[in-house]
Amino acid sequence: METKTLDRWGMNLQKPLIIAGPCSVETPEQLDRTVAGLVDQGVRIIRGGVWKPRTRPGNFEGVGAIALPWIKEVKEKYGVKFAIEVANPNHVEQALEAGIDLLWIGARTTVNPFAVQEIADSLKGVDIPIFVKNPVNPDLALWIGALERLDQAGLKRIGAIHRGFSNFNDTKYRNSPMWQLPIELKTKIPNLPLLNDPSHIGGKRDLLFDIAQMAYDLNFDGLIVESHIDPDKAWSDAAQQLTPDAFGAMLKSLKTRNSGL
Ligand code: PEP
Ligand code: MN
Repeated sequence: METKTLDRWGMNLQKPLIIAGPCSVETPEQLDRTVAGLVDQGVRIIRGGVWKPRTRPGNFEGVGAIALPWIKEVKEKYGVKFAIEVANPNHVEQALEAGIDLLWIGARTTVNPFAVQEIADSLKGVDIPIFVKNPVNPDLALWIGALERLDQAGLKRIGAIHRGFSNFNDTKYRNSPMWQLPIELKTKIPNLPLLNDPSHIGGKRDLLFDIAQMAYDLNFDGLIVESHIDPDKAWSDAAQQLTPDAFGAMLKSLKTRNSGL
């Protein structure tokens, strides 16, 4: 598949591309305060889950479409771009309608070729950047297959997100990084922008720095990181979210490579 590098995405995106924001959009106030804090740290692209695919029922599944006007408001107030997860054509339609700037397909959706194909079909003729998270299982072909479905639907600004792979046994990580898989992906599709998601790999705040540094050392194109104004009170993924200040400090301490970054 033919891909464009970040600098040819026509969005003035620079490497490293930084996306940060809460796991979930919870309330207008939580969103506003988190975005304000991140903007202070220089972040220009915010993430936030609206529809949350949870492993088991009964957990918070996102506030849903009521978050879309709140997002519109912070976009206008702070001049940021916004990325959300879509898992079906209905999400895509509502996201496009609300003026969302970037989309991503989550790890639990990438495993399902029918779902990915439906999303790809619903995006035909739409020029919006879309990232594909790796599937929950370490299956490179499934990851590439999802990227190809978007490519064949005519999308031009496609990227990938490495968020680690489910563990069978307890390990230090929430999701094992298995770095060889994203490296092989980059080897097979060299122009593909590739971000690292240290939050879902680490699962715990104190692991994030080392994971992100490894991604920088491996010449990833950027990071997508979960940040919340009050992480311990987050409605999802509390243990892995950083305050905007802590995230800013992490960014400053990461060492970029001399070449490229
Ligand atoms: C998320 O980004 O909040 C999320 C649910 O991630 P993943 O699809 O990587 O589990
Ligand atoms: Mn999350």
